[in-house]
Amino acid sequence: MASISTTVPAGSGLSDVKELTKIERIGAHSHIRGLGLDDALEPRTTSQGMVGQLQARKAAGVILEMIKEGKIAGRAILMAGAPGTGKTAIAMGMAQALGTDVPFTMLAASEIFSLEMSKTEALTQAFRRSIGVRIKEETELIEGEVVEIQIDRSATGAGAKTGKLTLKTTEMETIYDLGQKMIESLNKEKVTAGDVITIDKASGKITKLGRSFTRARDYDAMGADTRFVQCPEGELQKRKEMVHTVTLHEIDVINSRTQGFLALFSGDTGEIKSEVRDQINTKVSEWREEGKADIVPGVLFIDEVHMLDIECFSFLNRALEDSMSPIVIMASNRGITRIRGTNYTSPHGIPIDLLDRSLIISTSPYTEGEVRRILSIRCEEEDVEMTEEAKDVLCRVGMETSLRYAIHLITASWLVARKRKASEVEVDDVRRVYSLFLDEKRSVQYLKEFQDQYMY
Ligand code: ATP
Repeated sequence: MASISTTVPAGSGLSDVKELTKIERIGAHSHIRGLGLDDALEPRTTSQGMVGQLQARKAAGVILEMIKEGKIAGRAILMAGAPGTGKTAIAMGMAQALGTDVPFTMLAASEIFSLEMSKTEALTQAFRRSIGVRIKEETELIEGEVVEIQIDRSATGAGAKTGKLTLKTTEMETIYDLGQKMIESLNKEKVTAGDVITIDKASGKITKLGRSFTRARDYDAMGADTRFVQCPEGELQKRKEMVHTVTLHEIDVINSRTQGFLALFSGDTGEIKSEVRDQINTKVSEWREEGKADIVPGVLFIDEVHMLDIECFSFLNRALEDSMSPIVIMASNRGITRIRGTNYTSPHGIPIDLLDRSLIISTSPYTEGEVRRILSIRCEEEDVEMTEEAKDVLCRVGMETSLRYAIHLITASWLVARKRKASEVEVDDVRRVYSLFLDEKRSVQYLKEFQDQYMY
């Protein structure tokens, strides 16, 4: 391979495709916006869509810190707890808090068996999707080029005149000086989202260019609190550093002769030859030594981990030893159960040697108040108006059956309410859908009663 490519061609829409699959899969957790911790990593009772489960969220926060400091690669975390106690929700919260630069891959263990590739290939791809390579490229700054800066206005609120200014291109002294002057100038000049401004380097004076600059507007539409500064002519001739992060898997696919980058869109990347991966590993190591790239260990979340078999577990054990391993978070709602592919039983169906190297976070059942708060948050998220009495009934259903079942009833009861042209869900609507849809317990009961009428 002559050169290793890391760029996805422009206009390929890759990010759109990724977003779509993500939205579909995390619908049930769309109300989760983070772990809801304060600056001291203490969990707030209800924050960022997260309710209760304080111990587990605090533990997850500590792990987040370790990930951010790059000190956790190669470890395994196990989230253990009864169904519906928020194991996946907490993992989603961690993903949100990590930001977009750190890769986060979610996998249900049973997917490994349904893909048209070997189990180890599927796991290898999942691992390599979870490892980022932050590539630094040095480019010349040319006259009039646009430099990206970021203004953190969280302290003062959107639209405020002042705020902490951070330059994304931190290494450059010249640009940094420019930033300092800009902070002073921002205090005088009203700059709002979408404005393109020029700055006179000598005086630090800001001139607004209006909003005609499409790139700036595009960026704004992405919701990033980012402005662009147009450099004055003839200035800032020095070099700036561009940084972008891709995953090892993306580099694999882009450089794979058989598939090519288009495979990234369809998700059908096939098996990737081990020689391709070896070459890429060597190249990435070279980049690291030359200071051109950093490895960003991301997170691989494996849900229902008891569905993995002994071969997958031994793969995990080995892969965790690798110097380029992501952090693996497993989740299981099983107690002592058989390890698939063996006749042995163990806690969560996980071999003892893997358990031994895992940090275990346990989630506990919710109180009635917590279930009610989660249901209220979900009503808001799903745009459903519901009377307080109906919420009480739904909450009782949640306590007696499962949280997930109660959440499912929200939209169903809203449809029933709408059918009778009501603007709010009332107790009767909840009762109606409760009788229409069985929860697990009633479904088992029903099967027991009528089992002789089924095929067996
Ligand atoms: P299972 O073992 O069945 O996979 P789980 O422990 O992963 O269950 P989740 O899927 O995270 O449970 O939770 C069920 C639903 O309840 C989801 O919609 C989730 O977003 C929501 N939920 C769970 N815990 C919380 C919480 N602490 N705060 C807010 N929402 C929560």
